[in-house]
Amino acid sequence: MDRATALTEAFLNTLSPADADLANLRQAVEEVARDVITVEKNDPDWAAARVLRRIVEPDRVISFGVTWTDDAGDVQVNRGWRVQASNAIGPYKGGLRFHPAVTLDDLRFLAFEQCFKNALTGLPLGGAKGGSDFDPSGRSDAEIMRFCQAFMRQLAPHIGPDKDVPAGDINVGAREIGYLFGAWRQMSGIYAGALTGKAPAYGGSEIRTEATGYGLIYFVQAMLARTGAAITGHRVAISGKGNVATHAARKAIDEGATVITLSDTSGTLYAPDGFDHAAIDWVVQRKAQGADLSDPPRHIAAQFCEGAQPWAQDADIALPCATQNEIDEKAAQALVDNGVQLLAEGANMPTTRDGLRVLRKARVTYAPGKAANAGGVAVSGLEMSQMSHRRFMSADEVDQALRTLMSDIHDRVATEGKGDGGIDYARGANLAGYRRLAQAITAQGVI
Ligand code: NDP
Repeated sequence: MDRATALTEAFLNTLSPADADLANLRQAVEEVARDVITVEKNDPDWAAARVLRRIVEPDRVISFGVTWTDDAGDVQVNRGWRVQASNAIGPYKGGLRFHPAVTLDDLRFLAFEQCFKNALTGLPLGGAKGGSDFDPSGRSDAEIMRFCQAFMRQLAPHIGPDKDVPAGDINVGAREIGYLFGAWRQMSGIYAGALTGKAPAYGGSEIRTEATGYGLIYFVQAMLARTGAAITGHRVAISGKGNVATHAARKAIDEGATVITLSDTSGTLYAPDGFDHAAIDWVVQRKAQGADLSDPPRHIAAQFCEGAQPWAQDADIALPCATQNEIDEKAAQALVDNGVQLLAEGANMPTTRDGLRVLRKARVTYAPGKAANAGGVAVSGLEMSQMSHRRFMSADEVDQALRTLMSDIHDRVATEGKGDGGIDYARGANLAGYRRLAQAITAQGVI
């Protein structure tokens, strides 16, 4: 057993026994610990401060009931959570996820990852995550509004522009952020940036909706540029049909790539000659209707593969943009067999440990979500400063700033990840994020 493995195992044994069953959290922590634990042990200040152990332990986990009335007049009860992981480098910051399968384990791992992602942006943003087991599918607009208002009644005492600034995530988009912000504004009596992802009409940033998907493509372009390559002409397989997936697809098309798949929980839409913007408009419309991707528009050659993932198609670049753990060993092998050379994560932790092993063995260049999908939170950071200054940037200004932020994140990660075998982006992201957090945590003492 090498030193890093021994130290990682010893470190995992120091975690709270109460977290023993949180498999996603343990997976995320182990991946970071493998890369940073030796660095921590070699620095007497960081080792004494127990930096990594303190990042794993959230500052607080708030759990609350959400009681609301559906359209039939029946009382519904859901559970809500907010995990405030660390505010060492800025106000707590991270999205809200509404999904019937969401668990505290998901939110704990996402809040942990968010600390590193936000550190990588270079902006003053701490780490958090939240959500509810509420299932929005089939709910009317009025039900969504009442749920959001009830959720905010419970969350409001814990958030604020200098305290904790939630944003969207799965099933929480512009509509939900609007209802959540309206409820917060009414309860607090203050017009301030307590949430990001707002529409530009009431204090949101241009390009925030697009930012995660666009930023993912800018990150991939920075990776390719290192070898003198461009995304133009590459075949790109994308999973998901939500916010991240569709905006990544649009930007990839605009930059000259051929996007060959989008997908959802029911299957994959495969377009061998590529999607165009009109076809993506149709996908967006289907998602809004709660419909699957069967019966695609006639103007593109496309087939719906029911129950299939997008990874069995002939692609150069894979962008998982749906959910966690969607690329297991088998999916990773399919990607390798079909010639994928680069995988960048739009979703959070979509690649399992076994999947990663397969990709590494086949020398697929791999970019972790905490770096590649940081564009959304980076533009949220810009939204916070625009709201504070009461001065808003144009769409072109934000887009240019996003390109620069993603290129800077890439360079930070590439510098830390450089080794004899090329760049290890996962290691680079973990180390660069850790160093910033370690400096902040040790400077502020044992609190
Ligand atoms: P959305 O809710 O907009 O879309 C998620 C999509 O993924 C849905 O179309 C859903 O399908 C699909 N999906 C979910 N589970 C599966 C599955 N097991 N197999 C296939 N498809 C699935 O979410 P976002 O686009 O906002 O988020 C996607 C990912 O990106 C998440 O991991 C999120 O944490 C991450 N992310 C999002 C950011 C943002 O700014 N929004 C920022 C950074 C990361 P269906 O329609 O059938 O439900």
